[in-house]
Amino acid sequence: MNAKPDQAALPGLEPGQAAGQFEQIDGGAAPRIPGVKYGPTGRPLREFPAPEPLRQHGPARIIAMCNQKGGVGKTTTTINLGASLAADGRRVLAVDFDPQGALTAGLAIHAHEGPTVYDLLVGTERDIRATIKPSAVPGLDVIPANIDLSAAEVQLVGEVARESILARVLRAVTDEYDVVLIDCQPSLGLLTVNALTAAHGVLIPLECEYFALRGVALLIETIEKVQERLNPALGLDGILATMYDPRTLHAREVMERVVETFGDDVLETVIHRTVKFPDASVAGVPVSVYAPEHPASHAYQQVARELIFRHAVA
Ligand code: ADP
Ligand code: MG
Repeated sequence: MNAKPDQAALPGLEPGQAAGQFEQIDGGAAPRIPGVKYGPTGRPLREFPAPEPLRQHGPARIIAMCNQKGGVGKTTTTINLGASLAADGRRVLAVDFDPQGALTAGLAIHAHEGPTVYDLLVGTERDIRATIKPSAVPGLDVIPANIDLSAAEVQLVGEVARESILARVLRAVTDEYDVVLIDCQPSLGLLTVNALTAAHGVLIPLECEYFALRGVALLIETIEKVQERLNPALGLDGILATMYDPRTLHAREVMERVVETFGDDVLETVIHRTVKFPDASVAGVPVSVYAPEHPASHAYQQVARELIFRHAVA
């Protein structure tokens, strides 16, 4: 569906290496080479390098952060991935598409001052630029949401082409950004279908907990339906494992199942569980501002660079 990372570039893993050279470690499924360090997904650990600066900006690739399960890291990923891409010189627009407004709050944007994404959807605001707010992070802009958005789903039911309203709304500014990240609400209703119809790719955050995979089949089915009927260009950009705790056996088991199920669609970069994320959200900043030296900050920088490496982002 989308470009796969260059496996030949994995350190220590030459294409066509004789199977006899591999050694099974921990009874793991993947062959392992002695002396090579492996990451939580079973692939050799590597650092994704800083990308080349962009000489020009846009048109944006639109990525929907999607999982109908709540609390899996959609909003945290939107905020911190957005900030990391901006730090690498990408122009980023983050769209809050959840009536809870956690993205808006997490970047300390005031959604009661001025129009929100709801106004764009129902047509009470026709100028998308009037809704865009700069965040405290240079290069990261936000279209805020608030509880008004919860009425949109019902209000839009009778609209013509109700599934492609967000796509149409975003078109006016996509040339000015390199990436648009849509933070979906935890449901597969009309708002999420709008996000999937507007998007080029989907990023699915999965919490490394029991039942992480429950409901994912339905999510994939929904993505496929949208692809068939509304948006043939839609692809899966990746599965991001979040809240990973390497000390617990069950997190490692869940990780194994996720890799078994999705293979190379699982990003090599894994987000560990740490209180720095909720703490940063309460402070209204990305973790790269709240705790720049913490591994959590480095982790989302690596997600950003891995997505650039995979050509999911320019
Ligand atoms: P979603 O948007 O999918 O509902 P959130 O990103 O809001 O999920 O995350 C749910 C809660 O978990 C929030 O309080 C958030 O701060 C916290 N959280 C997110 N990622 C992590 C993590 N890697 N480690 C610890 N807590 C996290
Ligand atoms: Mg959320």
